[in-house]
Amino acid sequence: MSVQVKQFKRASQCFVQWIMRDNFKSSELLTADRVPDIMREQFVYTGYRPVYRSWKYYVHSILHLHNETVNIWTHIIGSFAIVIQLANVLKDCDVANDSTTWPVITLGICSILSLSFSSIAHLLHSKSPWHHQFLFLLDYVGVAVQGFGIGIGSIYICSSAIFRDVFLAWHLPANLILSVLIFSLYCTARVKYGDDNDTRKSLMIVGTSLHGLFLFAPLVPRYTDCWWNSDCSMTSLNHITLVVFLDVLCAVAFAALIPERWVPGRCDLVGHSHQIFHVAVVMTLVAKLSAMRIDIDTLDIPRKTIPSLTTLLGSLCLLLLLHALVHRYFLSFVKSAPSRKRGRIK
Ligand SMILES: [Zn+2]
Repeated sequence: MSVQVKQFKRASQCFVQWIMRDNFKSSELLTADRVPDIMREQFVYTGYRPVYRSWKYYVHSILHLHNETVNIWTHIIGSFAIVIQLANVLKDCDVANDSTTWPVITLGICSILSLSFSSIAHLLHSKSPWHHQFLFLLDYVGVAVQGFGIGIGSIYICSSAIFRDVFLAWHLPANLILSVLIFSLYCTARVKYGDDNDTRKSLMIVGTSLHGLFLFAPLVPRYTDCWWNSDCSMTSLNHITLVVFLDVLCAVAFAALIPERWVPGRCDLVGHSHQIFHVAVVMTLVAKLSAMRIDIDTLDIPRKTIPSLTTLLGSLCLLLLLHALVHRYFLSFVKSAPSRKRGRIK
């Protein structure tokens, strides 16, 4: 036992020494014209980390202020928020036997994967143009997986009874296929239009909107049913309306590039729209998990229609495998950038 304690102490001392040997210098941060085109963000002029540094440099950069720091931390903190919310939502539930908890768990896992991939991408992407593309394609895997998890929650928990009866049988395979197609569209946008921000973002917004329609469709009849039912108050759908409102906020924050469009260069480190988008994504996921708990408590959900947790997580594993194949395919079109020794990056 004492040997193990000594080994643990030695390992933690080595880790602390490694952390302390920090080679990050804020004075080395670059302006946009000194990084590869593909790494430039519109209206963000300063705070870029140099390319071709050691992995340690980028890992250490998590503890310093540059134009990705807030993006990294919003999704690290967001992952913990999801874990806490998941524990809250599942409190007092019989997870082993109550099938309504299984879509909640699936969405929780999808959310944590998505936020983790995003944090890793924002932390390490400045390594080189090739790593930038590799890591942001990984970020998009997370976005597509998150949509898949929301789809699971929509059909098995939050759906209207009519929609569930008609579409239940093919919703899971359709959700899988659509997730792969949307991810392929994101990859096309990134690989073909990586340095054309307007076209890339437009394609991504089209993909996300299509995915959003599919994910929101099971909920629409709940509004029409409630509208025509004199016993139903529209305020009983406030928890769903909040999720939709936050989804729209995510889309606006992603697309509008506000406030940096109004004050270019003033929000480089803190306050630009991608940071607002990150916070809105976390709020949407937390609100979605909360809405699922409200629906579990208030709706008469036919528990036998919900697939087993093994089936749901097996589908998620299959989806990750398909995304890995698509990721590999699109990455083959990304040229390796000239190394620091062979070529000069402007
Ligand atoms: Zn991001």
